[in-house]
Amino acid sequence: MYPAPFRYHRPATLEDAMALLARLGDGARPLAGGQSLLPILKLRMDEPTDLVDIARIPGMRHIDGQGESIRIGALATHARIAVSEVASRFPIVQDCATGIADAQVRARGTIGGSVSTADPSCDWPTMLQVLDAEVACRGPRGERVVGIRDFFRDAYTTALEEGELVTEIRFRAPPAGSGGAYLGFKKAAPAYPAATVGVHLGLADGQVCRQARLVLGCAGPRPVQSREAEQELEGKDLNRDNLRRAAEAIISCSDPPSDSRGSAAFKRTMLHSLFMRAAEIAIRRARGETVKGGTLYV
Ligand SMILES: Cc1cc2nc3c(=O)[nH]c(=O)nc-3n(C[C@H](O)[C@H](O)[C@H](O)COP(=O)(O)OP(=O)(O)OC[C@H]3O[C@@H](n4cnc5c(N)ncnc54)[C@H](O)[C@@H]3O)c2cc1C
Repeated sequence: MYPAPFRYHRPATLEDAMALLARLGDGARPLAGGQSLLPILKLRMDEPTDLVDIARIPGMRHIDGQGESIRIGALATHARIAVSEVASRFPIVQDCATGIADAQVRARGTIGGSVSTADPSCDWPTMLQVLDAEVACRGPRGERVVGIRDFFRDAYTTALEEGELVTEIRFRAPPAGSGGAYLGFKKAAPAYPAATVGVHLGLADGQVCRQARLVLGCAGPRPVQSREAEQELEGKDLNRDNLRRAAEAIISCSDPPSDSRGSAAFKRTMLHSLFMRAAEIAIRRARGETVKGGTLYV
């Protein structure tokens, strides 16, 4: 199906884009890589009056991976992030970026578009919650920075206010002696995943858990995180019994839908095995080993 008619605008600067969005009101949508928006328009699930193409706006595609404060511009594509210094420094970022869709989608889709869509099956929202990331937004009232947990309000619903754009994703470099892994399971590259798991663990003495961040994706309207599950590991030995207890605790908070990607029961089983595998990879990475993570295909 073709999209309903819309007017197309291509502002040259961020300020022009914000002014246009403010003037056009709630019938307008920003357009970045188009990899989520265009399918939605073709299915006529949304019929905006105007598209404001932000893809060529300068100053929003940077990937700054040095130092303690990591900054990724909203227009950085999945493909560029996958081969960036940030991805080689933090393998959990590479796990996530390389598992998104196929090469064509990764070449156009952006991290800002992914978090703004807030699709419960998208990879960046889950992975960025593992890293306690922040979302920088700019709008008519200036800049504000929103913690990732507060940014996702519901499925396809974010804290973005009218006329606001996501400009940058930020996170602190995890401390030495810690490691993370992000694993997904899907039928094929161009499909969305059926289940995803992000695990980040800080280790003391190579075996005791100092800090745990555990997040599930495709498991409810928003990424699923549970402090109780994290406390099943913190201060404890990272043996299989404790990991299993943490997996059961977080999966008990999940509510994966039964759909064409699998039944809820199947997805819970997948979440459990992905969790155990992701935790093992995170532990080995925290100890300095190079281990492959990422998406598993049927
Ligand atoms: C076949 C296929 C398979 C896919 N598989 C996966 C997958 O496995 N994993 C995954 O995570 N994703 C997947 N995707 C989605 C893909 O990652 C998209 O690139 C991403 O979700 C949206 O990014 P975009 O730049 O294309 O955004 P767009 O499609 O341009 O925009 C998406 C939405 O965000 C808004 N928006 C865009 N940028 C901003 C901004 N800076 N500030 C505010 N609002 C903004 C738009 O108005 C729109 O509502 C898939 C897509 C396709 C077509």
